[in-house]
Formats: sequence, structure tokens, C-alpha cells
Amino acid sequence: MLVEYKPIGGAVIPPSGASSHALIVHDPQSHEKCAVLIDFGLEPRPLKAAKGKYYSSTPPSEKPQVKNFGYGLHVRKLPSLEDFLGIGDKVVYASEECLPACKLLEGIRVLCVVATHAHFDHIGGIPWFHVKFPDTKIVMTEPTLEMGERLWMAYTRSLQLRNIRPLYHESDIECLQDKAWLVRAGESIDIGPFSLKFLEANHVLGALCVFVTINTPRGSGIKIFFSGDMSLAKQRTVPPSTILQEEADYAVIETTLASRQEVSSEKVETRLLRDVEGCLGRGGKFIFARRSIGPAQEIFAILKQGGILERWPKCVFFDGATRSVAEVYARHSAFGEEIKDVSPYLVSTEEQRKEIISSSRPAVVIAPADQRSEILLRYLSAWSRSSRNVVDVAARGVRFRAKTTTYVLRAHLSLQDLEAIVGRLDPKKVFLVHGDTDESKKIERFLGRTVTRTVLGKSYYL
Ligand SMILES: [Zn+2]
Ligand SMILES: [Zn+2]
Repeated sequence: MLVEYKPIGGAVIPPSGASSHALIVHDPQSHEKCAVLIDFGLEPRPLKAAKGKYYSSTPPSEKPQVKNFGYGLHVRKLPSLEDFLGIGDKVVYASEECLPACKLLEGIRVLCVVATHAHFDHIGGIPWFHVKFPDTKIVMTEPTLEMGERLWMAYTRSLQLRNIRPLYHESDIECLQDKAWLVRAGESIDIGPFSLKFLEANHVLGALCVFVTINTPRGSGIKIFFSGDMSLAKQRTVPPSTILQEEADYAVIETTLASRQEVSSEKVETRLLRDVEGCLGRGGKFIFARRSIGPAQEIFAILKQGGILERWPKCVFFDGATRSVAEVYARHSAFGEEIKDVSPYLVSTEEQRKEIISSSRPAVVIAPADQRSEILLRYLSAWSRSSRNVVDVAARGVRFRAKTTTYVLRAHLSLQDLEAIVGRLDPKKVFLVHGDTDESKKIERFLGRTVTRTVLGKSYYL
């Protein structure tokens, strides 16, 4: 039996940043091949690059003019506020080239796809895959499905509004809702020659890491660890990861932010709470522009923990896509048992939004920085012109009169986390994926061992 690992796509920065992977088993007797996929993401491509072959097995010579700064996609040059927020017009999600390369899977029976978590670069292509291959099992947690539905619907609607044909439609999403195979962290499933064990990834609500064991006819199988996106940092809205109790023969590990300097989360939270308190105290407005799934909810949990919700009643609000995600978080008790209902914290009507924007009352608004953020633009246009206000947004080159700041909340592996995981799992081989793995030399020096910087579409035999 031959086992092959192949990164198939979903890269932020090609060719090494895969977020979607295939694990393929070749049976030498029957010549059959079967596989499990870990994630099936959708990555935006700038209009200019949409005709390029970013998912071919040969790496592109030119990098796209977009860069991921941790949330959302930003053009490198940001001449104006409108350009920053109008990024949706410069990016397409509608071409099949934005999907992982299915031609790399020709002749292979895909038994299941695991959706590790609800970020679009991991699940964006799942409804498309389900339409194309309806017999393949789609495995995920309940929160991932609930947030996924909202994201997939928002994707189809936003493209339809712009007269662009999406890769899948509402009926495809509804069909997936009924057929998804729901699992929880701590559970295991068997499918064909694969045993899959799921553990908490400590990334966003419902996120999983996956251990895949391949059961060989002779017994003791090889075990491969897929980190998905994960962290070992303390987070307020998700349970800690328990992967440090495991071992594995091979490890496929994300390096999204591994090159960044480690920061103390206590220090960041203390500064954040002090800034918010100070801003509200002088009658100001505070805008958090954050990724809708994860960071937006974590900010809310920090504000709750720091007593802001009590000291400043009716002052903290979710708006835009962060609202429905907050509802899912609350339903799954991610804000604690006392906030099972977030409706008092949601901007639910246009009148209310206008009221909040024009009122002289202090306020904190958590709005989405990702995709097309008309909502964010509304708050920024109104509030970024006063020096009394504060804007938390990673917009390089955009000048506001309001104070700009940002708080690094870690939901990805740091170099130290990577060291802890590799030390504990003790794998024969470490494959680096996702993010800019140009940092592999730095990681090798830090870990004191060789790692494999993966290439999209390439086969690695285990
Ligand atoms: Zn993620
Ligand atoms: Zn990711």
C-alpha cells in the first residue's frame, strides 16, 4: 500500500501556502486509489490574475498583488479609504481557478472531506464539491456548519448582486445542510482504510485538528497529523487544544503567522481595555474592524471579561456579518452561560444604525473587515474624522483623523507553539503549509531540524 500526501490548493500565497490537502491510498493489488480531503477552500484571485494558472502543478512566476495581513485581503497600495474598502471589486471568487485543483484527483475515489473550520479559505468550495461529488461524505462540527451556511449564502448573494455567477447556489447550500456528517472534538470515525480522530484546534469556534491513521492489512498504521488552522495561545471563546497528548508519524502544520513576534496576550488585552475605557470615557466612538469569524467574537469576550459591557450598558454592538456569527457563538455558550442571547448587542435595523452613528453617546462597534464591508465604511465615514475616536484596522496608507491602533490576538501557531507540537508529536517528517512558508529556513533554525516546505500539486510519498 502506497500513501501519498498532496497539497491541492486554497493558498493565500502560492505556491506553498496550501490550506486544502489530499491524503491518497494506492492499493497495489486492485490499482484502486481512495482519498480523504482535509478542507476545500476558496481563495479570491485579483481580476488581473484570474486567467493565470495559480493551481497548476507548476508554480506561478508572478505573485498576485494581494497580501494577507491576518484578516481580510488588502491590496499592497492603499491610496484611499474607498479603495481599501472597495477591494471586493478587484477580487473574483467566481472562477474555478479559485478552487483547489480537482484535476489532481482524477481517478481517485474521494471518501470524505473534512471541513476543519468555517474560514472561507478552508470551506469556501465545499458546496461546489458536494454538487460535483454528491457521494463523498462531508464532515464538520455543528458550529462550522452553522457559520458555513451563513458564509456560503453571503458569498452567493454578494456575487449575484454584482451580476457575477457564483460557483454554487442557495439550493446547493440547503442540500449540504441535510447531508453533512456532524462530529465533535474528541470523536473518531472510520471510513474505508482511514480512521480519523478530531481534536480541538483552539482557532475559532468549532475548529478541529485531525489525526488520520491509515489501517494497513498488517495492522499498525501510519498516523498523519493535520493542524488545520490552530493555536496553543489562550483564547476566551474556544476550548484549549489537547493535541499535546498525541504522537504522529507525519505532521502537516500551518505556518500562517509563525514568523511573527510572539506577544503576550495579557499585555494586549490590558492595552485594549485601557484604550476602550479611555475612548468611551471621553465620549468617543471605537471601531473594531475584524474578521467576522473568530477575532470579532474574541474582542467581544475580552470586553465582557474586562467589565466594559456592565460599566457601559447599551454601548457595545456587533454589526454586519459579525452579528450572525455572534449568535452562533452565543448559542454554543462561547461567551459563557450568562450570554446565551446576544440580541441586545446586535445592530438589528437601519434606524438603529443611523441612531448609533449620529448619536453623541459613546459606542463600540465591532464590524467585519473582510469581503465587502459597506457597513464598516458607514462607521468609518462618520467616525474616522474625529480625533476623539479610535479605529482598530490594519489599513496601511489610509489616514484617519481618529487614532488608529491594532491589537494582535493570536489564533495561529507561533514559533514556540510549533516547537512544542513538533517536540511532542515527534514526527518523522514535518510538512509546512498555509501562509508564507518562505519562512521555512527560519523555522528550521528555530526547531533545529529539517522541515519540508510544500509545493502545491506536488506528491509526497509517506
Ligand atoms: Zn482559519
Ligand atoms: Zn486558514
